[in-house]
Amino acid sequence: MTALLDVREVRVEFPIRRGLFQKPRILHAVDGVSFTVKRGEVLSLVGESGCGKSTLAKTLLGIHAPTSGCVTFAGKDLKELDRREIARQIQPVFQDPYSSLNPRKTVEDLIALPLDIRAQATSSQRREAVAEIMGLVGLSRRSIHAYPSQLSGGQRQRVAIARALITRPELVVCDEPTSALDVSVQAQILNLLQDLKEKFNLTYVFISHDLNVVRHFSDRVAVMYLGRVVELGDTEEVLGRSLHPYTRKLKQGVLVPDPSHRLPPPIFDGGFPDPTNPPSGCHFHPRCPDAGEACTARRPGTVRHGSSTVACHLYTGLATGHDAANEKLEDA
Ligand code: SF4
Repeated sequence: MTALLDVREVRVEFPIRRGLFQKPRILHAVDGVSFTVKRGEVLSLVGESGCGKSTLAKTLLGIHAPTSGCVTFAGKDLKELDRREIARQIQPVFQDPYSSLNPRKTVEDLIALPLDIRAQATSSQRREAVAEIMGLVGLSRRSIHAYPSQLSGGQRQRVAIARALITRPELVVCDEPTSALDVSVQAQILNLLQDLKEKFNLTYVFISHDLNVVRHFSDRVAVMYLGRVVELGDTEEVLGRSLHPYTRKLKQGVLVPDPSHRLPPPIFDGGFPDPTNPPSGCHFHPRCPDAGEACTARRPGTVRHGSSTVACHLYTGLATGHDAANEKLEDA
């Protein structure tokens, strides 16, 4: 597999205005993120709300331009591609199919929208393309003239997937594609995404807060905290061995699908830190059970362990020494 997507030191910052005469604060929504995604691979981005996953997704879709750094798709800098070319190659599937579909348009018009924007299909090609993709995503032909309000949540998400795939993109950015659906429908949509991936050799960047789904669906996982990737590697390694203290905390919040199990306790006391005024050094240090002196002073660099990379002083030897890091690895 060759790299389809190459994200290099990407930063996305937004000025937050507080008053007419006050200097704006800078929100570092994405703070120096790097990763590659190979053709045919599924990379999941996980982390709490506000960690920068969705901003990063919008950057990959060309909706936000990086403040610095570079996103390369199939060897081309996204900055050099126009919006239509990006939309032909990279398509989104968003969380809430109801709000992402125009309620005044029929299923046919919704699905054909990317073709209409390109204005390259005749009306018979348009009709055929819509009918074909509806069959592939499991939508009945009878629903072709229906409006979103006449469809179930699962059907609406199938419409969103059909619209994403009608131009046969190479990369699909799925931003929490099942979290607004009933549990019984979630599995159907995940299976559909899996089948379509095989059929069209798709590459997915998959955003989710549900580690059970991520484990089932992805090849590799990037764990994000306050705009930074803190751990990245093969799914089994990241969610199994979990080098970073934050990944370990996230795992403690995973629900067990067994009614006899109690709900897990909240994984953190207190709220999420202010992203416009993040903690010094390692942003995670106020919530980290393993924080040492170096953690408040210095941002941890990223080091490699096996197939994973991790940004934590436990593994650079600065917080509590190499022995502590080795103990963590033996415990895991
Ligand atoms: Fe915890 Fe320090 Fe590692 Fe940050 S660098 S995760 S504070 S041990």
